Amino acid sequence: MTDERVLVSFNISEETGATSMKQKRQHGKKIVQPHTIIKAVTHICLTQANPGKLAALDALAPVYLALCQQYVTFFCTEAQPDKFHAPLFPTPLSERWHRVAIQQAAGIAGSWRTNREQRYQDFLDELEEYREQEVEGTLDEQAKAPTWREWDVPTLRQTCIQANANVVKLEVSEDSSFDYWLKISTLDFRKLLFVPVRLAEYHRQALGDKTLNSSVQLNKCNDGWWLTLSYDEVITVQTEPDAPVIGIDVGVANFVTTSDGRHYGTFNGRLRERQKRDREKRRRKAKLRACLEKKGVEKLPSTTSRSGQRLIRHVRQEVNRAVNECFAEHPAMQFAYEQLSIATMKHKSRAMNAYMRASNLAHITKQIAWNAAKRGVPATKVKSAYTSQVCSVCHSVDKKNRPDQQTFCCLVCGHRTQADLNASVNIKRRLGDEELRACKDRQEVKALLMKRHAAWKIVQGWP
Ligand SMILES: [Zn+2]
Repeated sequence: MTDERVLVSFNISEETGATSMKQKRQHGKKIVQPHTIIKAVTHICLTQANPGKLAALDALAPVYLALCQQYVTFFCTEAQPDKFHAPLFPTPLSERWHRVAIQQAAGIAGSWRTNREQRYQDFLDELEEYREQEVEGTLDEQAKAPTWREWDVPTLRQTCIQANANVVKLEVSEDSSFDYWLKISTLDFRKLLFVPVRLAEYHRQALGDKTLNSSVQLNKCNDGWWLTLSYDEVITVQTEPDAPVIGIDVGVANFVTTSDGRHYGTFNGRLRERQKRDREKRRRKAKLRACLEKKGVEKLPSTTSRSGQRLIRHVRQEVNRAVNECFAEHPAMQFAYEQLSIATMKHKSRAMNAYMRASNLAHITKQIAWNAAKRGVPATKVKSAYTSQVCSVCHSVDKKNRPDQQTFCCLVCGHRTQADLNASVNIKRRLGDEELRACKDRQEVKALLMKRHAAWKIVQGWP
């Protein structure tokens, strides 16, 4: 049986930290270590097993999920996530399954805590910026003080089991037409479930002669079970540690601007036109729905738009292409790019549909990290505070240095350039700027930049 949804995709596992290449000092010389990324082959359909067989897995799933949820809640609210925490809750599952649930829950709670912490930091930054503007008297009339709403603990809705070899063992099949057997421990004591796995041709090609990792992921959706396999790939580093640095500014008008003055990709033009059309279409549809609803029509047309989905995919493809090209045109270099927060993304895409653009900006930075990881070149995140407002010549910080989105024009020294280029030069310099890296918040960054500006004035003999 073939399934149109079957596809091969590669993901970097979060655990690899592939974006930060480890640098070690040996005999006073910096050496960049080779690193490993985890590649996954997803959507392997488990349709080869007869339906009765998978019933044992169906029975296990809700029990496992409920236990996992208990630990997720516990690790989010009461204790720090700990993969090796002692078992706390009663369950009919075996001790091995219990351990797997604790481990998966610790991972989920860990990223939830990190994301929440980051978003909270964003909120503090936004609040600070708001108060700054309040003092300066530059607040927009409609501007409201940002508020914080505490996050809910994550709820596990989808069945996803991240199993290790203690509970799910993957074995090569020698004596059948299948590629593998999955040996799964079930709720019944010592009873193993044997599930056959047959790979599609493209799965086989993707896997080649790779050595598979022992941990597997099982997902249930649309009443079917799916398997994800993964393998490690060692990336040899292509760049010298003291290679020249290229700063990357990400944005809407130019997806990527490099500090040597090149631009890659844009949301303006064709993409923007398409987005406008799509929005119009959705607006008309919503009107129609409201109208039909009033008349008591039961079956309403759907609000999701297929062209909207296509547009999102298209934007992502354009982003991927732009980032790819940027890396291809800068061999043997290393990169610095911005640690984007929600606040900076909003700032960079202030115009209409900020949300959609913000999510695309986030996609650009992900692609930068991924390209760097797979090519074995270092890319380092640097602080983004004031990169677009500070003058790259005299360090003066002023919102008014940006007369419009495209232009940077310093009010003190008169330095005039394309706005994204000015930002990318600032980003480039922040790599290795230890003083700036040590700043705890926006206020400290601003104070440091003002200090540098004052020093610049003295050196230049500025009145
Ligand atoms: Zn200046």
